[in-house]
Amino acid sequence: MTSTEQHKGQETAFAVNAKGYYGKFGGAYIPEMLHPNVEELQQNYLQIIHQADFQEEFQNLLKNYVGRPTPLYYATRLSEKYKTNIYLKREDLCHTGAHKVNNTIGQILLAKRLGKHKIVAETGAGQHGVATATVCALMGLECIVYMGEIDIQRQAPNVARMKMLGAEVRPATSGSKTLKDATNEALRHWINNPVDTHYIIGSVVGPHPYPDMVARFQSIISEEIRSQLLEKTGKENPDYVIACVGGGSNAAGAFYHFLDELDVKLIAAEAGGHGIHSGMSAATTFLGKPGVLHGSKSILMQTEDGQVVEPQSISAGLDYPGIGPLHAHLWDSGRAKFYAITDEESIEAGFELTKLEGIIPAIESAHALSVLKYLNAEANETVVVNLSGRGDKDLATYMKYL
Ligand SMILES: *Cc1c(COP(=O)(O)O)cnc(C)c1O
Repeated sequence: MTSTEQHKGQETAFAVNAKGYYGKFGGAYIPEMLHPNVEELQQNYLQIIHQADFQEEFQNLLKNYVGRPTPLYYATRLSEKYKTNIYLKREDLCHTGAHKVNNTIGQILLAKRLGKHKIVAETGAGQHGVATATVCALMGLECIVYMGEIDIQRQAPNVARMKMLGAEVRPATSGSKTLKDATNEALRHWINNPVDTHYIIGSVVGPHPYPDMVARFQSIISEEIRSQLLEKTGKENPDYVIACVGGGSNAAGAFYHFLDELDVKLIAAEAGGHGIHSGMSAATTFLGKPGVLHGSKSILMQTEDGQVVEPQSISAGLDYPGIGPLHAHLWDSGRAKFYAITDEESIEAGFELTKLEGIIPAIESAHALSVLKYLNAEANETVVVNLSGRGDKDLATYMKYL
């Protein structure tokens, strides 16, 4: 089901403004102590990103280290099943197995140009921690990753990867001992180490300029989709782009160059968990209200008195109580349509893709695939699904359903 009924459909501008807002959402709601760090970034990020030597190094690493451009694959049997033309954007083939590395490469190059030689990051399931530890090893920078104590127990393989890559994994022992607590600890660490440390945030969340910065680094996804579609079909624009939304970075990257192309329908898949009315869900646009979390105003799941509600999803990457401010605005304006996909539906879609195409998707990405059955796309239409990551990390979960 969708949360379309709440759409107002008025705003038509989707770029961030100078203060870091997308419509009503965004900004930089941060403690006084963080102002110097965040302001340094705000004042420098665009100028650095646009420098020729930055772009040269970034593009070179995307090509030769990450393996870009990732294929845009015409999924023949999946297309037959849904009686339309389905292309998969294969972010699962990126080095480290997901799109997250596009962002961590961009941010570490930025950190170096700001003269920072230490990196701090937060991680939930460990995917962003691994992507950060990877680029720190690549660049020889010190890396500290905060991770909830409970997540450290649940995600042992990723903890091992981070350690092998040379990162120090520090347990967050406060609160629920999960992602939001790790984020709080990482922010505290940054406050105490403002001069030599850059904080690499893993999605289009956090205070301005993070949402815009991360979206720009991930926008390579839709840049490639456009040129690959043109080559394959003679048209740059698909009819639909579908992506899953945790914080929203792979969706932001897949949507970016289509935001102002109003003939392209943008579709976001949120984690419905056990169902939106089950009390065990992470479907933010269905259950959330406006509020401030991790430095920006967005929509988040909260109690009557504003306490953050623990989200619940089978996929660790979608288990976040909010969405980035760009997505809050896309939802509020009606530019994007949001679906809540249950755990069961995502597993079904994961098995379906595996059987029809020989591709095991991350369970996060399987949420996006699950939207295909609701779409009713026409036989002459083109649908792009962003396959954000591969499913190797999820085998233990899939096995329970075999
Ligand atoms: C982390 C992750 C996500 C969710 O993060 P976004 O910022 O919403 O993209 C989705 N898919 C995979 C494979 C991930 O690792």
